[in-house]
Amino acid sequence: MPPRIPAQGHADDDLLEQLRSMGAEDTDWRGGRAWSLIYDAGEEHRAFLKQAHNLYFSENALNPIAFRSLRQMESEVVQMTVDLLHGAPETVGTLTSGGTESILLAVMTARDRARAKRPWIRRPELVLPRSAHVAFEKAAHLFGVKPRFVALRDDKRADTQAMVQAMSRRTVLMVGSAPQYAHGVVDPIEDLAAAAMKRGVPFHVDACFGGFILPWLERLGHTHPLWDFRVPGVTSISADVHKYGYCPKGASVLLYRSMDLMRHQFFISTDWPGGIYASPGLAGSRPGGPIAAAWGSLMRLGEDGFLRLAEQSWQGAERLRAGIVAIKGLQVVGAPHSTIVTWTSDELNVYAIADRLQAKGWSVDRQQRPPTVHCTVAPHHVPVIDSYLSDLSAAVAEVRANPKLAQDGEAPMYGMMARLPTRRFVKSGVRNVMEKMYAPGGAVPDLSSDNEDSPLMAALQKHGPKVLDLLEGLLSKRSR
Ligand SMILES: *Cc1c(COP(=O)(O)O)cnc(C)c1O
Repeated sequence: MPPRIPAQGHADDDLLEQLRSMGAEDTDWRGGRAWSLIYDAGEEHRAFLKQAHNLYFSENALNPIAFRSLRQMESEVVQMTVDLLHGAPETVGTLTSGGTESILLAVMTARDRARAKRPWIRRPELVLPRSAHVAFEKAAHLFGVKPRFVALRDDKRADTQAMVQAMSRRTVLMVGSAPQYAHGVVDPIEDLAAAAMKRGVPFHVDACFGGFILPWLERLGHTHPLWDFRVPGVTSISADVHKYGYCPKGASVLLYRSMDLMRHQFFISTDWPGGIYASPGLAGSRPGGPIAAAWGSLMRLGEDGFLRLAEQSWQGAERLRAGIVAIKGLQVVGAPHSTIVTWTSDELNVYAIADRLQAKGWSVDRQQRPPTVHCTVAPHHVPVIDSYLSDLSAAVAEVRANPKLAQDGEAPMYGMMARLPTRRFVKSGVRNVMEKMYAPGGAVPDLSSDNEDSPLMAALQKHGPKVLDLLEGLLSKRSR
């Protein structure tokens, strides 16, 4: 019998107990086992945030006149972020539900600005490095903008010359990251933004990850290339409070150099029977809790708190980098611009090492093209860095001793996905997984290759690795 709303409501204690036990199998983020997803500043900070969040638990920021409190908090969070990122007195912004919403809005706003100022553009284009967050691809998809992806340089930073070459009369926005998620490097924002400005094109810096940590690292003397509003030509920036601002999920800041650009973000309808309606972002109703928690987090930590936490994360990242390069066969990818540590191997199968790490209880972020593993270091990882390094070293030894491990577990699946000459098979395989997961009563399917019903493997294997080899061969001939 599928679940239904119970005829009689259950008791609070029973339900809370059930909720607790449902989480028992989740990744142990408190134990530092997940190297992304959660940014935690400790038990006391969390306890405070829950109280702040609960004070505005029911309030709705949809109507800023009814809830002036929330509008004021939003405005103060924006102004504190403007100050942190060296905005000008006329710099403005909004609070959104997260990095993805900030990015969607930045792309939509640039498109609509172009519609107003350069109406002859019929097919707007977005120029972005291949490393830009996938939310830009989603934005392009949603808002009918064509993404022009530009290949990275060997050091994983955006290639300025190639980015400029990808621009055309149809370009409505150029993008760079500070840092990009996959390898943690900061793009050459000064060069890119100068090129965009020369052509009158807006330039967005995705600092969803870096917005609330790079400024503190800079003050601590851990430097990286300049990227914020001090750079002429940077017209908008996204910075997630729910990452290194250490507040719970549901808060990101989107800033514009001036209202001249941001005005294109507002949606206003005058004809709805429900009344005149105006909203700044994608959502209608907006939960008050995350806004109060975002405000509370910045105010509670203060500069001293942020500097202390940034130093902890940085030291953790440095220790992790040093430990990884000391393991024979492993390399760290990209310059140490941030608290992201990405490793790879030029001699062993990265996905096989990842499987061995996962078997030791780590949640592993596998990346592709080329195969790498991503680690975001936050303060709650500091206590587990040594045990991660020793498990990583053991995993490497296991794969070195037994290269056949590359044919076990999830490694073959990731290997095939990364190698595929055409993405169509992967897409249909992943769609298959999504359909299974969201089918009536659906759960997360087992993806490992030992599972005969693995929907992803089924789709990939249907086409057969041999066919793929053949295709790959044909394609490489053609490109020669
Ligand atoms: C996390 C992240 C995003 C997207 O943010 P969400 O809050 O997950 O929607 C965008 N860009 C970068 C660089 C990120 O790290």
